[in-house]
Amino acid sequence: NRQIRLARRPVGVVRPEDWASTEEPVPSPPEGWFLGRTRYLSVDPAMRGWLDDRPSYLPPVGIGEVMRAGSVLEVVESAHPGYRVGEFVTGTFGVQEYALSDGSGAHRVDPGLAPLPTYLGALGMPGMTAYFGLLEVGALREGETVVVSGAAGAVGSLVGQIAKVKGCRVVGIAGGADKCAWLTGELGFDAAIDHRSEDVRRALRDHAPDGIDVYFDNVGGPILDAALSRLALHARVVVCGAISQYNNEGAVQGPSNYLALLVRRARMEGFVVFDYAARYRDAARELAGWLADGRLTAREHLVKGGVDDFPATLQLLFDGANTGKLVLELA
Ligand code: NDP
Repeated sequence: NRQIRLARRPVGVVRPEDWASTEEPVPSPPEGWFLGRTRYLSVDPAMRGWLDDRPSYLPPVGIGEVMRAGSVLEVVESAHPGYRVGEFVTGTFGVQEYALSDGSGAHRVDPGLAPLPTYLGALGMPGMTAYFGLLEVGALREGETVVVSGAAGAVGSLVGQIAKVKGCRVVGIAGGADKCAWLTGELGFDAAIDHRSEDVRRALRDHAPDGIDVYFDNVGGPILDAALSRLALHARVVVCGAISQYNNEGAVQGPSNYLALLVRRARMEGFVVFDYAARYRDAARELAGWLADGRLTAREHLVKGGVDDFPATLQLLFDGANTGKLVLELA
């Protein structure tokens, strides 16, 4: 059972030496447990935060521990009355080839209803994040102008599409012409801004002339500053994440123009998706309905490899190399 463990706490960008690849015998499930083989591993920006020893919404991953990760397991051996060999479950089972579970935190998923990787994307944590972040925290109303950063990523691509379902005008901010073309083409965004080649502040003036009602922020940094400068009256700024700041060696760069909140009588609110766990089932049902009737497109960026490819795959997020939900598919 090959596993990726945290060898030491990274400083800034995560380096190969921060990880250890270890091997131990594949365990047998005791009574009341099952053994699952990892088929798909979720690779998430939040993982960077879990490596730091500082107070957060989850305890840090300990030195020497198997790296925390969500995944899809296939049940390969079962001594649990509720799980049969050949079934699939999602849960937080870590970066390892096999995992034991007593069923707690395991959710059965049906590959007949959606492709398995989609349960790590649109029908999984990113889907829940987009849904509750936009509709609850953002308190979205029909006809509003929504701007989302990290727009071609797992969460952002869903945020924009949900806003379109709700009858809003949607502007996405993403890195690169291909991503922008995907947003305004297949996903039906009204406009896209390439933060690598365009002046975001000026582009927002063109694409959101009446101001931004909801800004859904996945990246922080200078793009957050630019969005704050274009808020409409009573705007909501949803603080979902700030990936541009996760590898900082020093302090997080805060907005230099937060007084825009005062002038525009706006609010800025953070959230953690886990707080909505009691309502995931309802949200997943609605998202699945939109997937089925074609109003929502789920895209996963699959990297094929072994658990040893996890460190390099994680880095892809910070290089902006993924379009859609980044997933490591284990051979
Ligand atoms: P994505 O699929 O969006 O991948 C990350 C993307 O971030 C990259 O593809 C890249 O896109 C962009 N990016 C990377 N570095 C920078 C930078 N310096 N400036 C601007 N953009 C950058 O990841 P997820 O959808 O999984 O996560 C999106 C955000 O949501 C993250 O901040 C994550 O931490 C947060 N999150 C928060 C949750 C919560 O409960 N609050 C739950 C889940 C996720 P590009 O090429 O377009 O620049």
